[in-house]
Amino acid sequence: MTGLDTTSKPLALTCEGVDRAAHHRQDEAWLAAAWSHPTTRVFVVSGGQVLVEDTPDGGTELVMTPAFEAPETEQHRYFLGIDPEGVRYFALQKDTLPGRMDDIARPAGLREVGGLLSPLQAGLMVHAVALENWQRMHRFCSRCGERTVIAAAGHIRRCPACGAEHYPRTDPAVIMLVTDEKDRALLGRQVHWPEGRFSTLAGFVEPGESLEHAVRREVQEEVGVTVGDVQYVASQPWPFPSSLMLGFNAQAVSSDIVVDGEEIHEARWFSRDELRAAFASGEVLPPFGISIAARLIEMWFGEPLPRQGGTPRPAA
Ligand SMILES: [Zn+2]
Repeated sequence: MTGLDTTSKPLALTCEGVDRAAHHRQDEAWLAAAWSHPTTRVFVVSGGQVLVEDTPDGGTELVMTPAFEAPETEQHRYFLGIDPEGVRYFALQKDTLPGRMDDIARPAGLREVGGLLSPLQAGLMVHAVALENWQRMHRFCSRCGERTVIAAAGHIRRCPACGAEHYPRTDPAVIMLVTDEKDRALLGRQVHWPEGRFSTLAGFVEPGESLEHAVRREVQEEVGVTVGDVQYVASQPWPFPSSLMLGFNAQAVSSDIVVDGEEIHEARWFSRDELRAAFASGEVLPPFGISIAARLIEMWFGEPLPRQGGTPRPAA
């Protein structure tokens, strides 16, 4: 099984629809003109949050303003791109979100609204949040220690002392649904997860490793199962703070489980019937949130997963 199920909605956070127009990032005259154009739209990002509002038809939208209404902080202005209608988008990084008089707007993070916004707006928000996370953690030059300055409309940090240019980093992580020869799925519970919460295994790619090797190593380390064939499925930006989740289906060639006890507290093989029954009895909590993990499980399960209410918790 490869490829995402195209009959369901796009994977959250993987949204497209905006031309990033990277060739404009270092053109200060173009950026200034774009900023002051009346159709340009700006939103504030602060600590991974933005302001959103609910629309009368039940949707959720970013609160965006024309640039002339936006606070004047050119130094922390990120150019995000241009939509098919020619609207230019910027995010402004601020220490706090602006107050609003109307009580309609509310602060929200990507985990909460990444799956509610339109694909275009979700894509803008992911881009802005990822840049903000990187900017916040790379204020000093990793080569000489001097304080760096923002450049390229938020996409470079430059060191005035040694001239180094630092680019936003993305940390690859693998996330995999492991199945065995009986087509059962291996799901694990992380040590800090509540009873009944199971999901796919995942882990960071180490230096010098291929993605396929990272999948096999992580599964071996976490649950002691040996993996043979590894098939790429899809990727998902995961800026918490800077990951790119690379989703795989992995074929186990052994079935005995030995959990490491450090990352994974419990792991089990589930047939589809067993998982369906475990959802129904409440023994296993349906996956929640916007992670590709839920999609990988759903693709194997072959039908929509039950939805879980309650408060979302941080996912892996
Ligand atoms: Zn430097």
